[in-house]
Amino acid sequence: MYLENGCVTIEEDDECITCANLQKGIACPLIHALSLGVVFLEDSLNVTNCGFYKKFERHLKLVLPITDDIPPED
Ligand code: SF4
Repeated sequence: MYLENGCVTIEEDDECITCANLQKGIACPLIHALSLGVVFLEDSLNVTNCGFYKKFERHLKLVLPITDDIPPED
């Protein structure tokens, strides 16, 4: 992770890549603090073992096409 021109950039080796808090944007306390200027990042930082980490899991729901073919009931 590094800060450039006021933008936080997450790199592939950061734990953040699979974190649910990153998917929600401001839900990450570190990114929130960086965006408010409360915390300053001078160099790059490799994020590992973050105490706020929550694994992001995508839940897909399959929707079956609607058809007029209704099977007869027994
Ligand atoms: S909570 Fe931690 S692991 Fe998750 S996005 Fe923020 S810094 Fe990265």
